Parts: sequence; structure tokens; C-alpha cells
Amino acid sequence: MAWDFSTDPEFQEQLDWMRELVRTEVWPIETVFDELGEDGFRRAIKPLQERVKERGLWAAHLPPELGGQGFGQVKLGLMHEILGTSPYAPAVFGNAAPDSGNSEILALAGTPDQKERYLYPLLAGDLRSAFSMTEPETAGSDPTLLRTRAVKDGDEWVINGHKWFSTNGSVADFLIVMAVTDPDARPHQRASMIIVDADTPGVNIVRDIPTMEHPAEHFGRYGGHAEIYYEDVRVPADALLGGEGEGFMIAQHRLGPGRIHHCMRWLGVSRRAFDMLCERALSRYAFGSVLSDKQTVQNWIADSAAQMQAARLMTLHAAWRMDNEGASAARTDISLIKFFGANVLFDVVDRALQIHGALGYSTDLPLEAMYRYARAARLYDGADEVHRQSVARQILRGYEAHDVPSEHVPTRREEARARFADVLEAVSAND
Ligand SMILES: Cc1cc2nc3c(=O)[nH]c(=O)nc-3n(C[C@H](O)[C@H](O)[C@H](O)COP(=O)(O)OP(=O)(O)OC[C@H]3O[C@@H](n4cnc5c(N)ncnc54)[C@H](O)[C@@H]3O)c2cc1C
Repeated sequence: MAWDFSTDPEFQEQLDWMRELVRTEVWPIETVFDELGEDGFRRAIKPLQERVKERGLWAAHLPPELGGQGFGQVKLGLMHEILGTSPYAPAVFGNAAPDSGNSEILALAGTPDQKERYLYPLLAGDLRSAFSMTEPETAGSDPTLLRTRAVKDGDEWVINGHKWFSTNGSVADFLIVMAVTDPDARPHQRASMIIVDADTPGVNIVRDIPTMEHPAEHFGRYGGHAEIYYEDVRVPADALLGGEGEGFMIAQHRLGPGRIHHCMRWLGVSRRAFDMLCERALSRYAFGSVLSDKQTVQNWIADSAAQMQAARLMTLHAAWRMDNEGASAARTDISLIKFFGANVLFDVVDRALQIHGALGYSTDLPLEAMYRYARAARLYDGADEVHRQSVARQILRGYEAHDVPSEHVPTRREEARARFADVLEAVSAND
């Protein structure tokens, strides 16, 4: 009977070390990030990255042959819960999105030559990447509608299409582009992934889209979301990543673990917001008492604690399932945590912001930034509704339609009367 919620002491020590480093060395960077600028930030985190490497925690999501730790998803999840507390911690640990997911698919599907050219420099931090799939004209929720085309012309692919929200596209050295290579194939076998160097003629990056996160347009910002036209972009045939038509299959490998890491990072953010909520509840005085004495505030604290605990257990369980039973067995669990976790994050941050009043709305606290971050979590990697739909569909496969509900009491009573006829007869004879 193996049903264990404990963390082995050796790994707990690593987690404690990470927590300390992130809190004391990375959190302070948040307040001066804009002053540091891109280069300053890289310089500031370099010594921290060295410490992470010495500790054997660099790019831990990758298999040991690529310098990672081969940690299963449970360990990675616990690690991401700590890294999630700061937007800058993943970069310190060599697993910032989208490079981490892209390195995973290069490790999984890349040829030796592609690994040499893209994966190893990506891991060393010498290259940057973007994942370019979503299009403004088609619903990203249903990628079988993709329109970007890659057509074979001799020993080259010619790509034409319009993408947006390619995170880091404007600072990337290469992009992994999802394009339709066979429009006549079955819907999930139409698209392929193709590696495109960002300086290839025809890659026309027109802007970083202003968003809730960065309302003012600023081209070439790390973390920006690029809009890109691919206009007769020619790449060699061997730029194909994996087999032709395998785009969706490879994407699934990237998304499963990625969603677990997202959910655990959201719990890190939620916890930080929750700590602020509790601290303020004990400190702010109004209407004859501190706010922690008001029942509404007590409800916020209890509801937040319960939601975070539920999301944490659900996420670690999904991670455990992935480690023990494989990605497809964990599919429903992953959809469950994706929408549930995103909403827990949103609720907890919202309450923490609310209790701080105008201060919470101001940039004097990190809560307004967390709130904007939380809003996006309900969209990327699958909108809430899409994951709910997927969960419901998978659950419903275990049921069948009944004209009369199977719990219909008169029907069951009739069956039970037939079954217990002897006893019922004996009982009524005794009457
Ligand atoms: C911060 C951020 C970063 C991103 N980074 C990347 C990136 O690096 N690379 C990339 O390729 N893309 C990226 N995206 C895009 C993201 O993957 C898409 O936004 C997402 O897949 C949803 O697609 P869409 O925006 O086209 O919305 P649509 O598919 O048009 O959906 C809009 C809304 O329709 C509703 N809806 C959709 N389907 C259903 C349904 N079945 N039932 C009920 N309602 C439904 C939902 O409410 C949904 O929010 C990013 C997005 C954000 C916000």
C-alpha cells in the first residue's frame, strides 16, 4: 500500500535551498528589473545561475544525458511551486518558458544536427526561442483550423502565414513554427513543426502586442508577444522537427508537463498573495477591529487556504499519475488542474488585492501585476472552457444514456420487490 504525501529528506533539503535563494536573491531583483534592463538583468542573475548549476539544479526538467536531473513530474512540480513565486526565478534555474518547453521538444524530436545547432546553445543560454502556433484569424482553441502553410519546393519548405502571441518572438534567435504540411490528412495529422531562424528572409515581425501585462507597445522586450507574418519563408527540408504531420503529437508532449509546472508556479504566486492577505488582515484597523476579525475576511482566508490545498493536491496527484502511469493516463487530471488552478490563482490574488484597497490596486505592491498575470492564466495553454469541455467529454465516456434514470426509485422498488418477494411475503404473513 503506497500512498505517501511526504517528500524525501534529501530532496526537501534541495527545496529549502531553492526557497532561500529565490527569496533572498531573486525577489529583490523584481523591484529594480526595469532599471537593470535586459543586459543588467542577465548580469545580475549570472552568479545565481552558477550557484544553481553547482547545486545540480540547472534545467532540471531535462533528462540527465542533456544535463538535467531526470526529476519526475512530482519533484519538478514541487520545485516550480518555489520558482513560481517570482517571475524571474525560472530564468535563474534554466527553465523559463518558452525556452524550457522548446528544449523539451527539441530533446524529444530533434535530430542530432538540430540538437547541436539549437538545443545545446539554448540550454547554455546562448540562444533564445519562441513557439509560433496561434493565429489571429483562426481560433487557437481549435488548432485543427490552422491556416499557416508549409509547402515543399525541391529540398526546401516554403512557409506562408500570420501568427501572433509568439512569446519572445521579437527577441528569439529561432522560432518553432506550427504549419499545415498536408491539408488533406486527418485533422490532427495535418500540421508539422518547423524550425525557422528568426533572421530568415520573409520572417516579418511587425510588433510586440500591447497586453494587460504591458499595455504600452515596446518592441523587442523579453516576454513580449510577437505578431509575425511569414512571407515566402524558405527553410531547408531538414528544418522539419520530428516527422511530417507529427506537429500535434509533439505539442502534446510539451503541453502535459508544462501545464503541471504552470499550476505549481501559480500556487507559488497564490501563496505569496495569500501571505500578503493574512498580513494585511492582522494589520488594518476599521470599524472597531482589525480586518481579521471580520467574518468576510475570515471566509476569504479559509476559502483561499482550502482552494490552494485542493489545487496543490490535485496537481501533485496529476504529476504522480504522469510519473507512474504515463501522459495519456493523466490527461483528464491535467485538464482539471489547468482550469481549476488558474481560477484558484485568480480568486486568491483578487482577495489579496481587495483587502489592500487602493494600495492593492497601486504598483506599490506586486498584487496588481499578479492580477494581470492571473488573468492570462485562464487563456493560454487552453482556455478554461476548452479544458472543462475536455474533462466533461472524457468523464461522459464512462456513462451511457438511460430512458428511465437508473436511480428511478419506483423502478428500483419494483425490482427490489421481485428480488425480496419471499421475505416480503413472510413479513406480511407475520403481520
Ligand atoms: C500571455 C499569453 C502568452 C501566449 N503565448 C503563446 C505562444 O508562445 N505561442 C503561441 O502559439 N500562442 C501563445 N498564446 C496564445 C494562446 O495559446 C491562445 O490565446 C489560446 O490557445 C486561445 O486561442 P485564441 O486566443 O485564438 O482564442 P479562441 O480560440 O478564439 O477562444 C476565445 C474564447 O472562446 C471560448 N471558447 C473556445 N472554445 C470553446 C469551447 N469549446 N467551449 C466554450 N467556449 C469556448 C473561450 O472562452 C475562449 O477564451 C499566448 C496567449 C497569451 C494570453
